Amino acid sequence: MRAAFPDFRLGKVLATSFTGTLSERRGDPVERIPTPQRLVDWLAVSGLAVDSCTTAQLELARELRESIHAAATAAATQDALPASAVQVINDRSVQGRAAAVLTPEGERRWQLGSASSVEDALSVIAADAISILAGERDGKLALCASPTCQAAFFDTSQSRTRKWCEMNTCGNRQKKARFNANQRKNSGSAE
Ligand SMILES: [Zn+2]
Repeated sequence: MRAAFPDFRLGKVLATSFTGTLSERRGDPVERIPTPQRLVDWLAVSGLAVDSCTTAQLELARELRESIHAAATAAATQDALPASAVQVINDRSVQGRAAAVLTPEGERRWQLGSASSVEDALSVIAADAISILAGERDGKLALCASPTCQAAFFDTSQSRTRKWCEMNTCGNRQKKARFNANQRKNSGSAE
């Protein structure tokens, strides 16, 4: 990982890593792709390098991100998928050119269309969201237990009992909060 981008939370699932570019949604939200260049950076570290990005393309990306978030949250809580979110995901999925290619090492890489445009990259992310929303992959959508986060994540643990979107951030913070609460209780402080 390049040290120049410490702010991205990159998970193993492309679609939910993308929704994680807006974190602390229920607290003080942190926008991790505030500029077109930051989206370019995020796409590069996510295996979807593009040539450039305009403000309008960043808007498209954010619209897709929020639609995936809305649909994933509905799926996690077993609600009906919001029709407008499904529409946006489908629109982005069909309006890009990307092809899966196999490397000599046996890994999948995404080859974007000849213009390597943001639309091509978004179509890969949309298709990834579709595969998890359609239940085609081994795992289950769930919501992070941190009250200020509640990010949707894809739980691939064997028992399907993962609680946090990320152990390093939300998990540790909750643990620390519990530890501090216990310390206060044990010291008899009236805080
Ligand atoms: Zn979280």
